[in-house]
Amino acid sequence: MSGGSLNTAQHDLVLLIRLQGLYDAISQALQERQTPPQEVKALEKTNRQRKAELADLEAQVATHQEELQEVQNGEGEWRLELEHFQKQKSMVTNEREFTAVISEIDYATKELETRKARHEELETTIRELGEDIENRRQARPEEETAQKEITEGWELTKKDLKLKVHQLAVDANALEEKLNPKNRAHFHRLLKGKNGIAIAAVVDGSCSACHFKLRPHLMQRVRRCEEIIACEFCHRVLYREDAVSAAGDG
Ligand SMILES: [Zn+2]
Repeated sequence: MSGGSLNTAQHDLVLLIRLQGLYDAISQALQERQTPPQEVKALEKTNRQRKAELADLEAQVATHQEELQEVQNGEGEWRLELEHFQKQKSMVTNEREFTAVISEIDYATKELETRKARHEELETTIRELGEDIENRRQARPEEETAQKEITEGWELTKKDLKLKVHQLAVDANALEEKLNPKNRAHFHRLLKGKNGIAIAAVVDGSCSACHFKLRPHLMQRVRRCEEIIACEFCHRVLYREDAVSAAGDG
């Protein structure tokens, strides 16, 4: 029906519709790129937990090692005490002194034994914690492979999305070259100010973006497609739903 040549408004409107499609695809790809799949998120969570658990175990080892050092110091001191009283025992001159020294020796022996026992306990705990840490560090090979596949798969997807965004931006640029500079600037202002949606189809006589009902006169002007019409409420550029099919090969 149309003689093949579109008027400027119609020409630009068709370009704007396609341009909006490109920007929709760009924002969708960017959104996808920022949304790792569930399995990647689960993996990141697992790794975080694993790291936290390892850090906790290492902190436990450090605490136990500190205590071990104290216990060892105590052992040394009580060993000296014991030697001291054992020497005294050989020098006692009466029963009363002997009883006193024996009591000191008993006390020192008991203190030393307590420390030795704790010493052994701590060494066992530290060794066991160390083995646990070592086992956790050596991830099972099949688990590691699975994790690597998930991570690499996601990295690849992100790379593809980046390329896609780049290509879409190139396409958008090429389209924008063909637009009237005024319409182009207007489109970008709307895109920025209207949450990424610069244009809206008229559906059942209303703006599909804000659902504001068009007055009949405005509806007619949109239908005629001889000028760029803005929604009276949200100010987005309006187009007939069937204008998309008119887009053809533009
Ligand atoms: Zn609107």
